[in-house]
Amino acid sequence: MDIQFTDEEVAFREEIQQFLRDELPDDWDPLNQGSPHSPEQLPFTKAMADKLADKGWLTLAWPEEYGGQARSIMEQTVYREEMTYWGVPGTDLGTGAIGWVGPVLMISGTEEQKSEHLPPIANAERYWCTLYSEPGSGSDLASLQTSAVRDGDDYIINGQKIWTSSGHIADWGWLAARTDPDAPKHRGISLFMLDMKSQGVTVRPIVNMAGNHEFNEVYFDNVRVPKGNLVGEENRGWYTLAVALDFERSGVGYSASARRTLETLVKYAKETERNGKPLSEDPIVRHKLAERKIEIEVSRWLSYQVAWMQSQDMVPNAEASMSKLFGTELTQKVASTGMDILGMTGQLSKGSKWAPLQGYIQRLSLSSVSSTIAAGTSEIQRDIIARRGLGLPRA
Ligand SMILES: Cc1cc2nc3c(=O)[nH]c(=O)nc-3n(C[C@H](O)[C@H](O)[C@H](O)COP(=O)(O)OP(=O)(O)OC[C@H]3O[C@@H](n4cnc5c(N)ncnc54)[C@H](O)[C@@H]3O)c2cc1C
Repeated sequence: MDIQFTDEEVAFREEIQQFLRDELPDDWDPLNQGSPHSPEQLPFTKAMADKLADKGWLTLAWPEEYGGQARSIMEQTVYREEMTYWGVPGTDLGTGAIGWVGPVLMISGTEEQKSEHLPPIANAERYWCTLYSEPGSGSDLASLQTSAVRDGDDYIINGQKIWTSSGHIADWGWLAARTDPDAPKHRGISLFMLDMKSQGVTVRPIVNMAGNHEFNEVYFDNVRVPKGNLVGEENRGWYTLAVALDFERSGVGYSASARRTLETLVKYAKETERNGKPLSEDPIVRHKLAERKIEIEVSRWLSYQVAWMQSQDMVPNAEASMSKLFGTELTQKVASTGMDILGMTGQLSKGSKWAPLQGYIQRLSLSSVSSTIAAGTSEIQRDIIARRGLGLPRA
């Protein structure tokens, strides 16, 4: 690996930072924002997405013909790092719009599908959700049971999805459904674009243990999807999905947000006295903070390694899993360190006058639990590293 940011990449980072200083409110505190898709926050989330779209940054890596700027993988990495460090909402228009819906459409979509769906993403006009997981299918996604049965010019969808992030605000859904129940499980899945306003779609909220409504259950009761909304070939959905993996997936956001939290904890330790001395002089506190600092650097470099491999047209496999695994477990460790440093009052939530850092660490402790589950659990990542990184046999 040979990573050195070019002058252009350094200048781009500075441009992003200046833009954010100009555009974010003066009192912007990235650690104390509510859920970006809550009724209170959504207008701001959308306003930021509009501004990013105006700059052309929302889809900065897309080819110019689809409203992008054809920026490099390293520039995308810089962009993601800064956006996460500053806690900017609205960067993926719900879930997956920019990450995989657009990229997969560019490769596997028809011309009609591209012209209907790519411009509204580049212009921040359309929000998406991703409808993969089901109550009985998560890690083993290929076992999914939601059915899509051909009926004339439509498919009829029946079944249930769960953990659908941003399903309650999405205009469109990116749906994986079974079109051939008799085929081996990976070979009977197709991919559809679903108008979330279609008759028969019911979205029910799930509130997580941090008190946020981010994900949902989604039910389909004889929902008609026009056959023109099938993406790629029927029954080849699993393979169509896999192409999205070739896009930026460095995981640089984990170290960026951990870095922001660590800076806040360091400041707190300097400003807070316990037993007549600043916390920053307590050797246990100092050592914990130092350990997290090292891990943040490791996480950052693991993600740069993934980005660099992609920039060299290599396919990071075990490396992407290492970055995801290390980064998400780091998020939980930083939260736990915060809890240790804050002490008993660290458990108080926002709104309590005694809650240190406005209850941020308490929320992080609760919300970070899910980070090692979402987008592939830690067990699954370790298994990938064992097989593809170490060449161990399939368990
Ligand atoms: C915050 C969050 C947001 C999400 N957003 C979305 C979304 O927008 N759209 C969507 O479709 N899904 C979403 N998900 C769902 C997510 O993809 C699944 O939760 C995840 O894939 C795990 O599946 P599961 O919950 O069914 O757990 P399971 O697969 O049932 O796993 C349960 C436990 O068994 C372990 N396990 C399973 N298989 C193996 C194995 N082969 N070897 C070793 N251990 C194993 C797992 O590691 C885990 O500890 C989200 C989840 C979270 C937490």
